[in-house]
Formats: sequence, structure tokens, C-alpha cells
Amino acid sequence: MTPVVLGLGSNRALSNDRAALSPCDVLALACKALSDVLSGLTVSSVYLTKPMYVTDQNDFYNMAVFGFYDGTPESLLEKTQAIEAAYGRDRSKEIRNGPRSLDIDIELFGNEQIDTEKLLVPHPRIYERAFVLVPLLEILPDSADIPSREPFEKALKSIGMQGVQKYGRIFP
Ligand code: AMP
Repeated sequence: MTPVVLGLGSNRALSNDRAALSPCDVLALACKALSDVLSGLTVSSVYLTKPMYVTDQNDFYNMAVFGFYDGTPESLLEKTQAIEAAYGRDRSKEIRNGPRSLDIDIELFGNEQIDTEKLLVPHPRIYERAFVLVPLLEILPDSADIPSREPFEKALKSIGMQGVQKYGRIFP
């Protein structure tokens, strides 16, 4: 079993003929789906964050999830992408870093450093994103970078809060 950290985000409601789901509904349903993928699930609060990169879009709701995974990083990516697709994610119709109903990033996969065509782990943008570091530090306050072991708390101090605000708990 490998301890893993996922970063989840949503800034677009999902509506079709079956359902009308707010971004927080989508995140809660994604957490429920992830409870079948990871054991010992620990879920952060949701944080409301200003969009980075593409700024002309709705604010994002972000959170972090920790749990233990039994399998390879690639198989975890397949499962998280299947959950994204189940909640309306269609990369063929998206602007990069633009609005999305659900984004799931693998932030950490045990102590592994992965650099393949499909996966970069630790996620290379952890250190520039308060919307990843703040929820991560809520559930794992002593966590640190791999391989430098620099505490993530120190990384957050150097970039600042970037306007990230606690929204509340949505799961369980
Ligand atoms: P995005 O559209 O930003 O969600 O990027 C998704 C693509 O990033 C996928 O096709 C993945 O293969 C790739 N990727 C690389 N590293 C990671 C990671 N750590 N977690 C999730 N996706 C990743």
C-alpha cells in the first residue's frame, strides 16, 4: 500500500438531463468515488481560490485527499481520469487551465519520483500553488517535499496565501 496525496479542483457546474451539480456537489461525489479507490481516506476542507494562469473564469473550489493505494501510479491515474470523465471532464473540448467540472492531480505517490510521458510526480506545480499547499497542510501538517525534504509549510510561507480562503467541509 502506498500513501498518496491527490489535489481536486472544480469551477464549473455540471448539468445534463439527469442532474444539476454544483462544483461542491461534484467534489463530494468525487470523494465518494475515491473512497472505493483509496483506503483510509482523509479529506481536507474545501478552499475557494482565484484562478491562476487563465484568470477570466469562475473561482475554483479546491481540496486535498490522502489515502493508501494498492497498485501502480499509472493505474491510479487511469482511475482518477475515469472519475474525472464520469463527472463531465472532456479534455478535447477544454482550454488548458480553463474551466473544468473536475480536475484530479496526483500530487504525491509515496516517496516516488516519476517522470514519464503520462506522469510527473511529485506534481511539478505544487510549490507555486497555495491552492494545493493549503489543503495539503491542513491534513498533513508535517509533510515535506521529495526528495529535498523541505517542509511544504516553508514553501507556502515563501509564496503566500494567494487569496486562498477556507470555504468549509463537504465530505464526509
Ligand atoms: P490536466 O489537463 O491539467 O489535468 O493535465 C492532465 C494530463 O497531465 C494527463 O494527461 C496526465 O497524463 C498528465 N499528468 C502529468 N503528471 C500528472 C500528475 N501528477 N497528476 C495528474 N496528471 C498528470
